[in-house]
Amino acid sequence: MKRKSSLVSQQMSSQRKNMALLAIISLALGITIVSQAGLLAEAVQRIFVEKASFSSVYLLLGILLAVMAVRTLLSYGNGKVGLHMAATAKTNMRAAVLQKLTHASMPSTLLGQTGGKVSIALDAVDEADSYFSQYMPRMMEAAIIPILILVVTFIQHANTGFILLFTAPFIPLFMILVGMKTKNKSEEKYAQLAEFSGTFLDSLQGLVTLKIFGRAHRQQQKIERSSLSYRDATMGILKIAFTNTFMLESIVMLSIGIVALELAIQLLVFKSMTFHTAFLVLLLVPEFYSLLKNTGTAFHSGRTSMGAVRKVEQMLEETSGESMNANDNEGALTSDGIDVIDNMDRVDRVSKLELTHSGDLSLPPSIVIDHLRFQYAPDSFELKTGRIQLSPGEHIAIVGKSGSGKTTLLHLIAGLLKPASGTVLVNESPLSQYEETAWFEHVSYITQHPYIFAGTFSENIAIGARGSISKAEIERAGEEAGLAALIAQLDHGFDTFVGEGGRGLSGGEKQRLALARAFLKRPAIILFDEPTVGLDLHTERVLQSSIAKLAKTATMITVAHRLYTIQQADKILFMDNGVLVDSGRHDELLERLPQYAEMVDVERKGRVSS
Ligand code: ADP
Repeated sequence: MKRKSSLVSQQMSSQRKNMALLAIISLALGITIVSQAGLLAEAVQRIFVEKASFSSVYLLLGILLAVMAVRTLLSYGNGKVGLHMAATAKTNMRAAVLQKLTHASMPSTLLGQTGGKVSIALDAVDEADSYFSQYMPRMMEAAIIPILILVVTFIQHANTGFILLFTAPFIPLFMILVGMKTKNKSEEKYAQLAEFSGTFLDSLQGLVTLKIFGRAHRQQQKIERSSLSYRDATMGILKIAFTNTFMLESIVMLSIGIVALELAIQLLVFKSMTFHTAFLVLLLVPEFYSLLKNTGTAFHSGRTSMGAVRKVEQMLEETSGESMNANDNEGALTSDGIDVIDNMDRVDRVSKLELTHSGDLSLPPSIVIDHLRFQYAPDSFELKTGRIQLSPGEHIAIVGKSGSGKTTLLHLIAGLLKPASGTVLVNESPLSQYEETAWFEHVSYITQHPYIFAGTFSENIAIGARGSISKAEIERAGEEAGLAALIAQLDHGFDTFVGEGGRGLSGGEKQRLALARAFLKRPAIILFDEPTVGLDLHTERVLQSSIAKLAKTATMITVAHRLYTIQQADKILFMDNGVLVDSGRHDELLERLPQYAEMVDVERKGRVSS
């Protein structure tokens, strides 16, 4: 390895004792290999050439067997030490990666895909295994045993020694050439794996958002592309590995052939050597090459491991670099815009929907909830409703205790859940008759935790658009959603990168980003999960005024927690233990529904339900 990674050298220096052990075992292994060949040649010489009786070589054969057993044990020992080194190194490296990730500041995670990083921590470190468990023991063997064999061969028969000396360098030379190529390939493979995992994780977490924006298919294609290119990179590496093995095998065969030919000529034509010597050399030569060849294979996996280790190192460096940059932005990302509300009050940008096609979904539709029944699983929570009519453009508040089924009802209305019985009628037609994409094209769902994809603000907002849109439109949507002041403080404005999951953005900021998507979309139906946790007064005002603006041209259904929202609603749906108990305006319900009056009373005293 030309440039040893600092991470690996760190591990190496902390494992000096194991390295010394490897060297000692390798030397002993070399001695047993040579002894085994010597003993075997001697036995064959005595039995077949000197025609000695079988009983006279018993002792010799016994020693030979013992040497073979010791050799096996030593090989096993070398592998064991390698595995031990690999386990220690992996534990250390994983700890280093995890420590970096957990200690990274929040804004630093904003800049990268956590999916990608976790994949590196788990997979790349695993791939580093073979560097320690295979590469190191094989390299140690290759550094010691062939030299030992070479010395013995020279002593026995110098010509063969020269042949070995001449052909041996071809093997490492070839290995280095192939290794170089594999290294780049394997780094490429890691980049692809990280991208693949990142895309996959992003998509999984944002599934609802993707579905609502009709992007599920496109994302599916993206995942497919990313997985295909990962496959190609892996196949590329395998191809090189197989070619490598084939070439090494050919070189070895050829070299042994040359040695055998030379020995045969010396033995039979010139009669210049004994059978014992020729046989001993012939036994040692394949050992010599097989060691070098193993090194070739180990070298290849060592290279692959190096690619992985380098990636881990790079990530560790990046993480420390990022946290510094990100700290600079920290203030910018968390502060709120001060004059947004004034701006928005002045500029009324709500474009009226063109009243051209009556009855279609581009206008706020009428919605009828008709005797819905729903269960997540048998014998568990069950949702039941009667028949309730929601008029076009009405603002509805769903209220009730935590766990009473508000979100479930909202999901049923959105078509994200299918009722077991009953229907949701949209403009008098069952929701199930609408084409899914056509329906979601007119729905905006602003959840408490909107999903933010790894990408820029612009890209995150643009997902709300139906077709291609201009930068100006994106920016206008951002402004309408109350993001202007926040964006103005960022160096790259709308092109600032937000991490997967919107790390580093506050809950209110994420909801405003989701709102910006909605402003691009101009939905006819808005589903809104009002924040349960108290936002600061300013953020809440920005959010409320933006939502109100958007809701002017839509039927809005809110899972409401704020008394203000509830009081303002045209209709309140009161849920209790899965049952839609009653619906009506605030004053009506106050009068006729004691549970409602009680809930309002609790709210007034300042307790927030969720
Ligand atoms: P709310 O929004 O009023 O707090 P939800 O509609 O979220 O209530 O939940 C109603 C009930 O359904 C709860 O008992 C909850 O545990 C259960 N529930 C919600 N989502 C699921 C789900 N995906 N799988 C199984 N049970 C669920």
